[in-house]
Amino acid sequence: MTHMENIDIKGNKYRLAEHTPLIKPSWAALISKMKDHPSAPIWNSHYGDRLTIEDLSVVNSFGDSLWKKRSPGQWAAGIPSPAIMEKMKLLLPEVPAFRTRPGAEYDLEKGWTEVPFMSREDLARRPGMFIPDGADIKRIVIFNTAGTTGHAIKVVQHPVGACSYEPMVDFVLRRHGLSPEWNDSMVATILVGAQNHTVTCATVVTSWGGAGFIKINLKSSEWPHAGAADEYSHAMNPFFLNGDPISFAEMLKQGISYRPKAIISTAVAMAAGLKKELREFYRCPVIDWYSSNETGPIAYTCPEDDGFHILPHDIYIEIAGPDGNPLPHGERGEIVITGGRNPFLPLLRYRMGDFGYIDISPCSCGDPMPRIRGLEGRIPVLLRKGDGSLINPVDISQSLKRFSYVQHRFIQRRDLSCELILRPVSMDSKPDEKLVISALENVLGGLPLTVMFDEGLGMDSRGGKVIPFVSEL
Ligand SMILES: [Zn+2]
Repeated sequence: MTHMENIDIKGNKYRLAEHTPLIKPSWAALISKMKDHPSAPIWNSHYGDRLTIEDLSVVNSFGDSLWKKRSPGQWAAGIPSPAIMEKMKLLLPEVPAFRTRPGAEYDLEKGWTEVPFMSREDLARRPGMFIPDGADIKRIVIFNTAGTTGHAIKVVQHPVGACSYEPMVDFVLRRHGLSPEWNDSMVATILVGAQNHTVTCATVVTSWGGAGFIKINLKSSEWPHAGAADEYSHAMNPFFLNGDPISFAEMLKQGISYRPKAIISTAVAMAAGLKKELREFYRCPVIDWYSSNETGPIAYTCPEDDGFHILPHDIYIEIAGPDGNPLPHGERGEIVITGGRNPFLPLLRYRMGDFGYIDISPCSCGDPMPRIRGLEGRIPVLLRKGDGSLINPVDISQSLKRFSYVQHRFIQRRDLSCELILRPVSMDSKPDEKLVISALENVLGGLPLTVMFDEGLGMDSRGGKVIPFVSEL
């Protein structure tokens, strides 16, 4: 199939030119090559980056700024850079949530440390309140957060915000000694998943000259025959692999022998032991990103492996103490983010629920951006079925997505039995307990599950943050 007009996945027609406006015949040919390979997985979706020519120039200039605007100045000052401050000032009267607090006329410079925090809970409860008046909502693309560490929420993005990921990948690869020359005869990356259900697709990346992007799920029923995932990886020859620690652990377990030039691990902090194993087996740099869907990439592992350098120049990171006041550099507390480039989700002191401290001392690797050190808080929890196989917490979050609730805590006891505590939006609208149990039946492989509702869940913790998965194993 090399037809430029549309592709058919499970009876759904996807118009290539609608999803990838700048597509060329050679890009469409690459999509066919990736999709039609005899060892290809079962595809269930199509995705395009929706980048226009104007968008592309914004993405490229963001990429240039990543290199040119690396300065620790705002951390020395203890307040966001003038560029970020100016942007936030303009947004105060435009964003409904900011008009309420801190208020349209609030003096950010004078009262910075009094600006109320934003949290994941705010996004779950009232996502529309952060979209500025007059925003071009026709350009909204929606991403479901994985929910590795919290419950899955929907994040609205703009194609430019989503595609600013690519110059950040370029940046970290170069910082780790690699210089990819992207083009439409190569596959840039395979995004590896190991979940019960996830999107699988093959597409091209506009800002990488039409290089391929493939998303796979390692679950065996998603492949045409045993060994297909390994064969397909070799045949596609992607420059780097991308995924989360659970997927990479599964890759090692399945003995996938394809050796990429780099592995980029996102979403959650990777345990040092797994990193070492991956490095030894795949013999390539293993680059860990500190990132979330709400914020995009925040920081990347220093090439000398000494903490995480702050990655984009358009965010400000501060560390909050237990009383909510900013802590001096070097003191450990909760990571709080301001700025970013999502026009539909401006971040004003957004609490990450992760902990670490900021080190502004110069680093021998040469990157002048400060480092986040001692990062922790989102290490994935291992849960097991009765037969010993692993349960991916993402699958639990995904199965719970259809229910309306604020946050959850899932606990696996020593005897393998499970408890789920949900904080409903209100007790009147709490989900049906039996439906929740049946939604999780498959994922838990028949383990006994008790469901409880608690309106006060998280009220006793800092910022209302709940540890979503707990294992007593
Ligand atoms: Zn460094």
